Amino acid sequence: MSEIVASLHNHTLYSDGSAPHFRLFDEAISAGIDVLITTDHNVLVREADQYYHKDSRHLLFLAAEEIHDQDREPQKNHMLVIGARKELAQFAHSPQLLINEASAAGAATFLAHPNESELPMVHEPDISWVDWDIAGFTGLEIWNHFSEFKDAARDFWKMLFFAFFPEHYPRGPRPETLAMWDELLSSGQKVAAVGGADAHAIQFSWSILHKVIFPYKFHFSSVNTHLVVGEEFTFDLDHDRDMVIQALKNGSAFVGYDLPASTRGFRFTAETDSSRVSMGETISIENGATIRIHLPLPVKARLIRNGKVINQWEGTSNLVTTAHESGAYRVECTIEYHGMERGWIFSNPIYIEKQEKKHGSLQ
Ligand SMILES: [Zn+2]
Ligand SMILES: [Zn+2]
Repeated sequence: MSEIVASLHNHTLYSDGSAPHFRLFDEAISAGIDVLITTDHNVLVREADQYYHKDSRHLLFLAAEEIHDQDREPQKNHMLVIGARKELAQFAHSPQLLINEASAAGAATFLAHPNESELPMVHEPDISWVDWDIAGFTGLEIWNHFSEFKDAARDFWKMLFFAFFPEHYPRGPRPETLAMWDELLSSGQKVAAVGGADAHAIQFSWSILHKVIFPYKFHFSSVNTHLVVGEEFTFDLDHDRDMVIQALKNGSAFVGYDLPASTRGFRFTAETDSSRVSMGETISIENGATIRIHLPLPVKARLIRNGKVINQWEGTSNLVTTAHESGAYRVECTIEYHGMERGWIFSNPIYIEKQEKKHGSLQ
């Protein structure tokens, strides 16, 4: 298994970010990112995909898009469309049409910051997802690093404190987003999860204070989506782009908050005598499957089936248990950081399907 760290929700000068592509490349490389994906608002920058090499490190850059209906009042429903390679913003007025067109173009579709707060002090509206009469989307951005700042900055002083000491505000995905995800999973849908920076590197000025709020490198070191795939990059652009898009569509990934400690190395598998699967995959069982979880550090972890915690561990890195029931199984880990237990790793599910035993067979 090979692990690819992706930062997949970023804005540049093509929309409301504050730097051109090439500036982001260096910062992504120095933060240890393997795949940088930009998602400027309603604009797909074509022919920009490329490999960037520096100091023996390699960065795969893919330009994608965050699409929303600019005429809608109030503003809602931001969708990350990754891998389309053609402009789809003309379908923004209908989320279902957009999902259909994006799927037909081979893209993954994620509902961005599906639940968030407004931040009236700086005229930032609440841009949650509200049109739920949709089907066929790839998944949810369960953790949006910038959106969580809007949740945390509940008064002026908190906003100022978290703007200058941003390592103090992230706690994890919003509980209602996780509950919504679990509800979709429990209904039998396959719904992939990603975590995004939503990096803008905003220029902030107040009286004599001037600061770039949340520089790109800070975002790239924080909430990332780690893809766990079967092969290494080949450095063939088309091949590697397809591999990344496919992993996102499958949910072969976990969301990691890499600022307290790198989440590289997390693994979650299920196996029977005849099969072994990882995140995003389905396994059939007759009696049970052995679940194995490897944590990069011996933090608190819990195994969740269809929204219910079925196992908890603390103080060990290699966790083994058995699953006997059908359902979507996923893992959550927390870590102590700046005096608080904070979300650290959120895996995509492994889908377990229990086969009914055949009756009446002759012994
Ligand atoms: Zn957005
Ligand atoms: Zn965004």
